[in-house]
Amino acid sequence: MFEKVLIANRGEIALRILRACREMGIQAVAVHSSADADAMHVRLADESICIGPALAADSYLNSSAILSAATIAHVDAIHPGYGFLSENADFATMVEEHNFVFIGPSPDHIRLMGDKIAAKKAVKDAGIPVVPGSDGAVEDAEQARAIAGDIGYPVIIKATAGGGGRGMQVVRDDAGIQEAFNLARAEAKAAFSSDEVYIEKYLEAPRHIEVQVLADLHGNVVHLGERDCSLQRRHQKLVEEAPSPALNQKERQSIGDRVVNAVKILGYRNVGTVEFLFEDGEFYFIEMNTRLQVEHPVTEMICGLDLVREMIRIAAGAPLGITQSDITFTGHAIECRINAENPDTFQPSPGVIGLYHAPGGLGVRVDSGLYSGYSVPPHYDSMIAKLIVHGANRNECLMRLRRALGEYVIDGIDTVIPLHQRLMNEPDFVNGDYDIHWLEKFVGKGPKKETSP
Ligand code: ADP
Repeated sequence: MFEKVLIANRGEIALRILRACREMGIQAVAVHSSADADAMHVRLADESICIGPALAADSYLNSSAILSAATIAHVDAIHPGYGFLSENADFATMVEEHNFVFIGPSPDHIRLMGDKIAAKKAVKDAGIPVVPGSDGAVEDAEQARAIAGDIGYPVIIKATAGGGGRGMQVVRDDAGIQEAFNLARAEAKAAFSSDEVYIEKYLEAPRHIEVQVLADLHGNVVHLGERDCSLQRRHQKLVEEAPSPALNQKERQSIGDRVVNAVKILGYRNVGTVEFLFEDGEFYFIEMNTRLQVEHPVTEMICGLDLVREMIRIAAGAPLGITQSDITFTGHAIECRINAENPDTFQPSPGVIGLYHAPGGLGVRVDSGLYSGYSVPPHYDSMIAKLIVHGANRNECLMRLRRALGEYVIDGIDTVIPLHQRLMNEPDFVNGDYDIHWLEKFVGKGPKKETSP
């Protein structure tokens, strides 16, 4: 087993990885930008190294600085977390070339899944159903129009190198193709330095369902069930739950088996998430994420497993200690992402935290590096905490979540907690009756005004 691991990330996920390391008796080395010198994961780390200024490009995305830190600290392995360099195949290669272990999949698998066209083809060949669309890149609006004619409108134009919901354009008719094509290309170029795009059938009211897998270096693969991440705003997830209220046992088992089979065929290792849109009882692959996901705790809560611990064990060469039949799903879990944003306008709200009080009690988990007096820096993603609640069933989970949200105090900045509170009382959500567009409509309606008697 490793003696020392470097955590190449920040915020709640850096703390999450540090906690797993500590429980495994592994020393944790934090790296941080100058803006994060006071962060909780830095305070708790066995060692910490400043790798650059606040700008992520000069610190958390600076491979050379991270590898220098790993060399100085004599670590055995590097955990990339999510975001930043976690899905950068070149970084994973460099890590290996410097004789550190990359805690994640092989660089080849990261590269394959990072190219969405290649990924779609690979999983299709491995027996996974995909969204109908272009077989490869689409060169111009004329070709886009021809493909749209075949598969039928509406269609969505997406960036081959896409991520974070950027570089996507929905088109409803021939007249809109040229403009949408140009926009998608420009957005893709700006965000991913590649303007390659492809086309898919646009599904009108699907749910976003993803299957978590674990694969060791010895060919053992298990799935840990699904998560429903349909509550999204601007293609960004806000609330996730497991299991999905939309799946029955047969659907759950069938997609789980197909995913495990495909992952075996692909020879994939470590953690991964296969993402689907689910409509009218059918699954359609959209992408595979080759890293730990933000929403992994809901899976942990219903499976009783520590995914980061499993990642570290797998990377160190240990065989999975479990088979599919050992995995049982108990109860229901929901995660609320707490962003430092105005709950109505979604304007980012960095600043100094005044009073801080996190909820607790049975079945309540808070993954966050926040504390009173901490200053949320303006330079990074606005997610500052995750509230995860587990209950014996979905109803108990919802009751507990309402209770926990009511206890959560984060003074001094705006957060989306009031939005979550509104959401948890909304009949459609309570009934599990929502698709990927539902949240946008709900948010559009705004908070209910108090009416005077
Ligand atoms: P990213 O890598 O940017 O997250 P994804 O391919 O995972 O991109 O898609 C993100 C979200 O965009 C999905 O969860 C869904 O809400 C929407 N989306 C993507 N493809 C389609 C599609 N073919 N039809 C409808 N919505 C889609």
